[in-house]
Amino acid sequence: MPRPISASIVPAAVAHNIAVIRRLAPNSHVWAVVKANAYGHGIERIYPALEAADGIALLDMDEAVRVRELGWQKPILLLEGVFKPEDVELADRLGLNVTIHCEEQLDLVRFAQISGRIDVHLKMNSGMNRLGFAPGAFQAAYQAAKDIRQIGDITLMTHFANADEGDVSWQLDRFDEASRGIPGPRSVANSAGVLWHRAAHRDSVRPGIILYGASPSGVSTHIAEFGLRAAMALNSEIIAVQNVNAHETIGYGRSFAPEQPMRVGVVACGYADGYPRHAPTGTPIAVDGVLTRVVGRVSMDMLTVDLTPCPSARVGSRVELWGDQVKIDDVAAASGTICYELMCALARRVPVRTV
Ligand SMILES: *Cc1c(COP(=O)(O)O)cnc(C)c1O
Repeated sequence: MPRPISASIVPAAVAHNIAVIRRLAPNSHVWAVVKANAYGHGIERIYPALEAADGIALLDMDEAVRVRELGWQKPILLLEGVFKPEDVELADRLGLNVTIHCEEQLDLVRFAQISGRIDVHLKMNSGMNRLGFAPGAFQAAYQAAKDIRQIGDITLMTHFANADEGDVSWQLDRFDEASRGIPGPRSVANSAGVLWHRAAHRDSVRPGIILYGASPSGVSTHIAEFGLRAAMALNSEIIAVQNVNAHETIGYGRSFAPEQPMRVGVVACGYADGYPRHAPTGTPIAVDGVLTRVVGRVSMDMLTVDLTPCPSARVGSRVELWGDQVKIDDVAAASGTICYELMCALARRVPVRTV
């Protein structure tokens, strides 16, 4: 028998979340962002739910090939564009839409030996200072792109630095100002833009994390009102129970000692499964549907939980590390990270089921 840990992926939750996105941004095309193997969920697993999207956005050529092999005929957008001349040829053959964020990428397309035309997303750096043409160079970049025979339709694009925390108008204003007079559709909003910045919806939106039912702000309560559903659950079981005396310590580093005697459950899940080692005592976890807390240090293959709120728990009791009841955002927040990282870090050794 394998260890009792497993992850469940719920394509129906992704389909539901796309419907939520459609209601929020009814006039925008929806690019479903599935980079990093659909944020750890597995592109193939959630693929049936993506039918409801207008396009798929990702950044690995391998993933683009996989999506075409699955039969996807609608647009695919390469979010970081191309890196080598052969990428342009493959993009042409696969009919990919390619981001162009710098002069070097304009040249890659300009000198590509292709007969077709590639649709592009011309990206402006409106303040993120990661990828994109500076606002002052954007008009020239657009003119250059327009003059390149191999380029077809041009969408104007930018990306927010802090749409999850507050104001995006400083970036939107720069984007609008620097792209004034340029025709063509606009694409601006990530998940936070979809949820919280109507002015950013524009012609197409690029939601990622909310497809999977988690919060772009890292705070689970921020998305409660939208009715998104978690697309991933991580479950395991209690494999041992210890009755620990008051002031005895639990686990490595002897970091936790209960004030009172405590029944402690040992769970088959550790950092080698992708559970964050930084999860401190107090991190939420559920045993037999009862919310309780992690106690002591997370080790490679196991972690320990306080069974005080669930006295009938025993070996074999079901544990939810995250899912519908325990929000992945809350586990991430307790551990000093964000849900994105936990999803992407789900380890290979964890068996995954599609439900
Ligand atoms: C990852 C990414 C997104 C999606 O971001 P979320 O916060 O997951 O919605 C959108 N646009 C670009 C350019 C990205 O790289």
